[in-house]
Amino acid sequence: MSRVLFLQCYRRPPGEPVGPRYEASLGVLSAMLKADGHTTRLIPVTHFDAAALGAALKEACPDVVLVHIDGTAVDLARRTLGALAETGPPPIVAAGTFATLMPSTALSMPAVNAVIVGEVEEAFRGWVRSGLSGSASDSRVPGVMLRSEGRPATFRPAPLIDDLDALPPADRSIFGYPPSHPCFDIVTSRGCPMRCAYCTNDALRGLHDDPPGFVRRRSPDHVCDEIDELCMNFPETQRLRFPDHAFALDYAWLESFADVYAHRCGLPFSCHLRANSVDEPTVEALDAAGCDEAEIEIVSGSNFIRNEILEMDTSARQIERAFELLGDRGIRTRSINYVGAPYSSEITESDTVRLNRRLKPDFVQVRVYYPFPNTRAAGIAEEMGWMSNRGEVCFAEDRSVLDMPTLPAKTIARVARRMAQDISEPPRQGWRAALGRLPIFPGWRLSDVLGTWLDPRGGDAVAPRR
Ligand code: SF4
Repeated sequence: MSRVLFLQCYRRPPGEPVGPRYEASLGVLSAMLKADGHTTRLIPVTHFDAAALGAALKEACPDVVLVHIDGTAVDLARRTLGALAETGPPPIVAAGTFATLMPSTALSMPAVNAVIVGEVEEAFRGWVRSGLSGSASDSRVPGVMLRSEGRPATFRPAPLIDDLDALPPADRSIFGYPPSHPCFDIVTSRGCPMRCAYCTNDALRGLHDDPPGFVRRRSPDHVCDEIDELCMNFPETQRLRFPDHAFALDYAWLESFADVYAHRCGLPFSCHLRANSVDEPTVEALDAAGCDEAEIEIVSGSNFIRNEILEMDTSARQIERAFELLGDRGIRTRSINYVGAPYSSEITESDTVRLNRRLKPDFVQVRVYYPFPNTRAAGIAEEMGWMSNRGEVCFAEDRSVLDMPTLPAKTIARVARRMAQDISEPPRQGWRAALGRLPIFPGWRLSDVLGTWLDPRGGDAVAPRR
């Protein structure tokens, strides 16, 4: 039996609470490996620290390491693997969205022996069962690409796991939650029917040749079984969050979930909604189930940015209607906005402020746009020559990685810093405010130089309205 170590490489965006970062696939994989008699441990890697990594490895003494690479932590993973390579490490396999979409690059990272392309659970378990050779009974373990072989012509990604109910509940013990942790993420689906250009979903769908069964859902009872187990292990659980973007995109499933959840669980919860799919029956079902907060990606108030560049297929009217319906039911709303998407300008960012003012969300969240690798929006930025060499560290520091003539990185930082306040507070009146708004050179207003005397707003990018 093996000691399996997960290194979870990701960058924490500003505003995200410090604490465990739940990754459902690793939780499920851990449960499967433990059922096979292995032991598992997870170490989060959010910044490079060779000494801490060395000490953790010495203590964990793993037989095999799985490095899970987030699209925002590729350089971080490379440095981490470089440090690992010097310690004479056990076999290392890379997995996660980046490894899936750019397997050859992942395979070329220091000390990586294999890459898992596709959903990790069955492929990694197969790799471990094969004695880490990648072959079992003369057949390849699907989805495992070996460094010794490169990319065979016949290589196929790990098949999509069709029946999510066949998977065990995620093992939460590896994420280091304190016993009194009050709120947990529960993932109910895999895949998404939408095709937003800033998301890796489309590339993942393409990897599997756009199969009809790409979007899969757990049965409501399977979800509630997991919640029962969770509440047993963490009796102080007070609320839940359903972060998957496809959570409310299938009304038949949602209706049945609402019914089962209200009877079996009933904890208040928040969820992610797509504005173009929010209608009265959806909000009614959410309300009946106990939803008290919904987050919606507005992304941009500009129709051009939202629909022509980022292909969200979402009109301003749909967004307004979604906020109205949720407000009517007393469900708190959180609007999520991105500053500095390709082709943005100060005008399009003002559109975002104006749209949010009409929506009156309870919470406003503002982030700087980050071009995730392998997305169409990142492709636009690359094609236009807007990608700087500032790198992925920008994601964690909420700085723009793009250099666009229409909205320089410094202006993006300033707009992002002020947007939540600009939305929450009506425009200031009076001569000092008017003076502060005077443009002094492109992207800069007088108040940016003279500061609080002219305009005291600024600071935190997340502004609760009540
Ligand atoms: S709805 Fe969310 S998960 Fe689906 S494609 Fe758009 S951004 Fe990606």
